[in-house]
Amino acid sequence: MLPEFELFEPRDLQEAVALLTELGKRARPLAGGTDLIVEMREGRTRPEYLVDIKGLEELKGVTVSGGLIVIGALATLRVLERSAIIRERLPILYDAVSQMGSVQIRSRGTIGGNLCNAHASADGTAALLASGARLRLLGPKGSREIALEDFFSSTHKTVLNAGEVLTHIHLSTGSPGTGGAYSKYTVRKAMEPALVGVGVFLHTEQDGAVCRAARIALATTGPRPERAVRAEETLRGQRLSEELFTRAGEAAAGEANVGSNWRTPEDYARHLIKVLLPEVARRAWERARHEGRNIS
Ligand SMILES: Cc1cc2nc3c(=O)[nH]c(=O)nc-3n(C[C@H](O)[C@H](O)[C@H](O)COP(=O)(O)OP(=O)(O)OC[C@H]3O[C@@H](n4cnc5c(N)ncnc54)[C@H](O)[C@@H]3O)c2cc1C
Repeated sequence: MLPEFELFEPRDLQEAVALLTELGKRARPLAGGTDLIVEMREGRTRPEYLVDIKGLEELKGVTVSGGLIVIGALATLRVLERSAIIRERLPILYDAVSQMGSVQIRSRGTIGGNLCNAHASADGTAALLASGARLRLLGPKGSREIALEDFFSSTHKTVLNAGEVLTHIHLSTGSPGTGGAYSKYTVRKAMEPALVGVGVFLHTEQDGAVCRAARIALATTGPRPERAVRAEETLRGQRLSEELFTRAGEAAAGEANVGSNWRTPEDYARHLIKVLLPEVARRAWERARHEGRNIS
């Protein structure tokens, strides 16, 4: 049963921040509610106040501005899935959101909620981590911008201060020779969290043969979505090949901070990473050689 709470509906972002600041730790922002309401129903969290931010128009939508893709924290997963900007310029995020939940969940759940819930198996978060996303936060002391990889403090926790909300996500529009892909392994085709998810983003030299830099992110059974930096090192500066992707998969499987749970024993999670990563890297490489060239 859903515990009792008091609901506030701020008219704008400033009012939302003021309310969250005043109510402090006993309050939580409510976006789509597909994580928060489920957790409240299951008794895993008990906020006394919910500040409903999902009506705040200024935090919705996807735009391209000054060489950046700017995604509002309240953009639903469905809006991202249907966005031409995301499909054409950030297909790694399209891969992730189009595999999440069901159409109903994607129509309600937001990308900001996926990030702020800080769950290790969050698909959108892992795809954005691989893409080098930066986050814009607004709180009572003003706004600040941080790299997504600095956003998580510990298991299920972020560095958001009291009263602070995530407003926007910033990404580079990409350059020729870049490309990314994301995939997750699940037993069922839909409505299942990832047993593991892998996102790979490659920067290649102009002819696409050599890897200038790579970012690899894992959605796992561990404490939080994480970079696989040893696997990235395996690719950096090297001539790309199937064999190299296999080596990167082995490196990522070795370094992943996975834990066992009833769905995914640790050795199975490592095995899945080893198998999945080369396939995802191959797709990222394909995009870097073809789609990346159309991006300006
Ligand atoms: C049936 C089902 C299937 C699902 N499948 C998947 C899946 O395949 N992959 C996956 O990754 N997830 C999945 N989810 C989880 C969920 O749908 C996503 O994580 C979704 O993106 C959460 O967004 P939301 O807007 O509903 O967040 P909410 O539930 O509203 O919020 C989540 C948390 O973030 C905080 N928050 C939200 N927005 C902000 C903000 N702008 N600033 C600060 N804090 C904020 C809230 O206070 C809360 O703590 C599934 C959930 C369900 C119920």
